[in-house]
Formats: sequence, C-alpha cells, structure tokens
Amino acid sequence: NVSVVLFTSDLRLHDHPPLRAALDSAREIVPLFVCDDGIIDIGFAVPNRRAFLADCLADLDAGLRRRGGRLVVRHGDVVAQVCDVVTQADADEVHMAAGVTRYAQRREERLREALESRGRHLYSHDSVVTAVAPGAVTPQSSDHFAVFTPYHRHWARQPLRDVLGAPRVVRVPDHVGSDEMPSRDDVPGVAERLPSGGETEARKRLTAWLRGELAQYARNQDDLAGDATSRLSAHLHFGTVSAVELVHRTRRVRGPGADAFERQLAWRDFHYQVLAARPQAATVDYRPRNDRWRSQDEAAQEITAWKEGRTGYPVIDAAMRQLRHEGWMHNRVRLLTASFLTKTLYVDWRVGARHFLRFLVDGDIANNQLNWQWVAGTGTDTRPNRIFNPLAQAKRYDPDGTYVRRWLPELAGLPGPSVHEPWRLPAHERAAYDYPEPVVDLSEGLARFKHFRGLG
Ligand code: FAD
Repeated sequence: NVSVVLFTSDLRLHDHPPLRAALDSAREIVPLFVCDDGIIDIGFAVPNRRAFLADCLADLDAGLRRRGGRLVVRHGDVVAQVCDVVTQADADEVHMAAGVTRYAQRREERLREALESRGRHLYSHDSVVTAVAPGAVTPQSSDHFAVFTPYHRHWARQPLRDVLGAPRVVRVPDHVGSDEMPSRDDVPGVAERLPSGGETEARKRLTAWLRGELAQYARNQDDLAGDATSRLSAHLHFGTVSAVELVHRTRRVRGPGADAFERQLAWRDFHYQVLAARPQAATVDYRPRNDRWRSQDEAAQEITAWKEGRTGYPVIDAAMRQLRHEGWMHNRVRLLTASFLTKTLYVDWRVGARHFLRFLVDGDIANNQLNWQWVAGTGTDTRPNRIFNPLAQAKRYDPDGTYVRRWLPELAGLPGPSVHEPWRLPAHERAAYDYPEPVVDLSEGLARFKHFRGLG
C-alpha cells in the first residue's frame, strides 16, 4: 500500500508527524509539494519567499534522495493535484499538517471532501506548524486567549509531544510523475542579501544558536547593532525547523536567555490561536478603535517616504532599507517602523502590513497582521495608545549609532549617537549630507494621534 505526505508549511524531515505516520502505515510513500495556484493568485508568493521556498524544496528533495526517495512537485490547484497523485500512486490515504490559517483550513476541508468522495482518507496532524495547537488551551469563557500573559502561563504548562527523528529510508513509487522543481535562479527581484533556505541550513543555524548566543538573549535581544537574535523566523515560517523541537531544545539549555527566547516562541503560537479563532483579524480590526485613519491620498508622500526609507528619522529609514536588502528586520525596528506609520503618521495598519508582506522572507499572515494590529492599538495590546518615540528608542537600542550607519551610508560621517538627530546640525553642515528633513514633527504627530483617538 501507498500513502501520500502533503508538505505545506513543514518542509523538513526531522520531527515530522505526518511523514512518520505515513511511513508507519505504508510500504511506499509519495512526498508531495504543490506550488499552489491559490497562493499565487492572492499575491502571497512574492520573490523573497518564492526564492527561499525554492531552496527549501531543493534541500528537501536532496534529503529524500539520500534516503532512497525523492520529492514529487506539482503546480496547479492543490486539490486537483493531490487527487491526481493519489490516483497515479493508487494511494489509500494522505497525511498532512493541520491548517492554522483560514486558507489552510479551507484547503484541508476541500481536500477531505474530495478524497472521501473517492473512498480515500485524509489524516491531519496537530503540532506540526506550531508547538501548541490553536485551541489546545482556552480560557474558561472564550474560544481563545485575547491577552498574551495568561496565554503564556497556560502554554508553558501544556505537555508537548516527543520529538521524532528523521526517517532512515524512504521508498517512493517510480511511476508517479513530478513537474519541474522551482529554482531560486528563476525568481526575479529577490533581495540581494536574502538568506538561504532549507532544512540543512536551518539545522546548522539552530545548533549554533542553542550553543552560542541563546545564553545572552535576555540581555542582547534588543541590541540593534549586535544582531543577536536567532534569525530562525523564516525557517519557522517554512517549517524547516520544528517549533516543538525548538521548544524542547531551548528548555534543555535553561537560564534567562532560554526563558526569554521560549517566551517569544509562545508569542508565535499566541497569534496563531487568535487568528484561528478570529480569521477575519487578518484584514479587519480585532478590537475596533476607530475607522478614521488619515486618507491615503492626503498621506501619500509620507507613505512613500516611509516605504523608501526617506522619512528623515534615521532609525526608521535604516530599518526600512534593511527590509528591502535582506527581506528581514529586527523585532525592535518592526515595532518602531509600525508605530511610526500607524501612530505618528496615523496611516491605516493595513498599508504597512501589506508592504511588510511584500518583502519579509518570514512574512506570515498570523504574525504579521496581528503584530501590526498590536502596534496600531487595534489588536491585543492592553495599552493600545502607547507610542514608540523613534528618537528615544534609537538612542536606547542603538546607543552609538552603529546600526543606523550600517544602513545609511550617507550619514556615515556623523559620529556616535549624533547620527540619530541629523536635524540638529547647523544648516551649513547639514547641506553636506544628502539626507531628507523629517517628514513630520514628532509633537505634531502626537497631537494628531490624540485628536483622532479622542484623547484629551
Ligand atoms: P527571535 O528574537 O530569535 O525570536 C525567535 C522566534 O520567536 C522568531 O523567529 C518568531 O518565530 C518568534 N517571535 C519573536 N517575536 C515574535 C512576535 N512579536 N510575534 C510572534 N512571534 C515572535 N514574525 C514573523 O515570523 N512573521 C512576520 O510576518 C512578522 N511580522 C511582524 C510585524 C510587526 C509589525 C512586528 C512588530 C513583528 C513581526 N514579527 C513577525 C515578529 C518578530 O518581529 C519576528 O518574528 C522576529 O523579528 C524574527 O527574528 P528572529 O527569528 O531573529 O527572532
């Protein structure tokens, strides 16, 4: 008998419950990935994530080949392709990760119906994409946690399944046809410093992280120039690292660094459980505060300056340029740039969320949209009217300006923290720097925010 394993956001061989279940029940399996037209149609398959995905698929195929198998890749409608593979392979069952977004849940429902009408069975497995499955812990009075701290308390007490090893041998029937494998080289418009994808790369980074900088994470996590976070987000997004394995291995390290890092992993699951319960929060305010964002026509020039890294606030501009060059940004500057757009410029969070999703290699509906809502004050933040002051934050998290100078070469001549306030230079010195005036005065931004939010 034959089983199909449909890979989605879980492009790995280690700790993969659907793969293990399929290998336990069948002599041969078909490891399948479908380049899904649905995801391409909604515009989610942007160059940075397509390139990273191509790396992941190439590495998954190589790992399967080392074990005697191969990856079958198809292009098209996911349900039609899975059914075609099931027929070609004469498979009895399909195994996959349980969907944690509305798109993935609908895909699973459509697939289940189509397979059952053909007398085949779909098994979906929890805790493949997240450590704790959405809905596994709930408060007494609701279907999800709306506040992080109590969620984290419950999350930390939740038993985790054991970590599974990678299979030794995989047998794939010869006659199942595969389309051409996507290649990074065929994707135009990729960020010049985009990292490489794939499980091999992910495991190297994971091991180095656990043995190295994790211990100092609590102290260094917000040091912008030190760049001392794990950079595992894209690997978690594509599932080349398992969240369950990451939590288990982090717990073994122990200490303040491990505790702080584990807490960040809980944030990831937190947002997934909010989105699973309230799928509309991907586009609609989770907690409506107002519907009076500034008109995008009126704010057009400021929005463009923000996107292009020309706001005149060096830490904001450095971050927005890093996004374009690397397809990634540090969490602290994601907070600052999002606060700047939604609170200082008072522009709708959806404008910023869309721009981030166009470039972020870890761009993820749950974590991007809900973090944007958190910052905009329409989400789960219990202090929705806080505003990050970009200047105070820059001086605190980039005290000698190293991060800013790295991304704004035009300001490289400004020493130490003076790089954060080029507007303080005397006019004749300023003229030497090809750098814009601030697009907005911070106190004017604050007054506008208070006005729109109806705060005295
Ligand atoms: P580390 O500091 O090493 O953290 C480890 C892991 O914990 C991360 O890889 C991530 O999976 C998780 N994590 C950390 N912080 C958060 C958080 N605030 N929310 C949820 N999970 C978290 N993260 C994404 O994965 N995809 C996104 O699209 C995304 N968009 C964001 C948009 C905004 C406006 C903000 C403020 C944050 C966003 N984040 C997003 C969360 C966070 O910024 C990134 O996960 C983090 O910067 C990735 O770098 P890292 O892997 O080095 O993180």
